[in-house]
Amino acid sequence: MFSGKTEELIRRVKRAVLARQTVQAFKPRIDDRYAKTRIVSHGAIAIDAIAVSGSASLAERVEPDTDVVAIDEAQFFDRGIVEVVDSLADSGVRVILAGLDQDYLGRPFPPMPDLMAIAEEVTKVRAVCTVCGASASRSQRIIQAGATVLVGGSESYEARCRACFRPRDVAAGTR
Ligand SMILES: [Zn+2]
Repeated sequence: MFSGKTEELIRRVKRAVLARQTVQAFKPRIDDRYAKTRIVSHGAIAIDAIAVSGSASLAERVEPDTDVVAIDEAQFFDRGIVEVVDSLADSGVRVILAGLDQDYLGRPFPPMPDLMAIAEEVTKVRAVCTVCGASASRSQRIIQAGATVLVGGSESYEARCRACFRPRDVAAGTR
């Protein structure tokens, strides 16, 4: 959340485009927060993207002349994405993925651990802890006051450092 992952992905895509490389950007269809066919950062920078339902659909959409495949919100893909990107990389395609490495309980967020393991390079971008201002590595789930049942939209997230992260403390007014 708010760590600049998507900004960094977009920055790398724009550099590849400037270098006259053919780029295809993808995002999971589950992520409809901003726009269906664009990757938009919190800072409102955007690039065109293809929304796909899963790894098989992504593999089908990669064109033969594509040099770079960029994937946002990689943590929402099925496990098949690991094989798909490995095979793309084997065939000479540069693959850039952005995703959350941990879920709201601080656990590794599949399939990110496998993707990070096979990657040539991993960059961890960090948000700022909303409590103490330290470098944040976690996403704290906050249940808004008045919400008794956890349904879509009743929870939100904020960046927390390891010390301020309260994985099971999700009641209203957790600070
Ligand atoms: Zn903190």
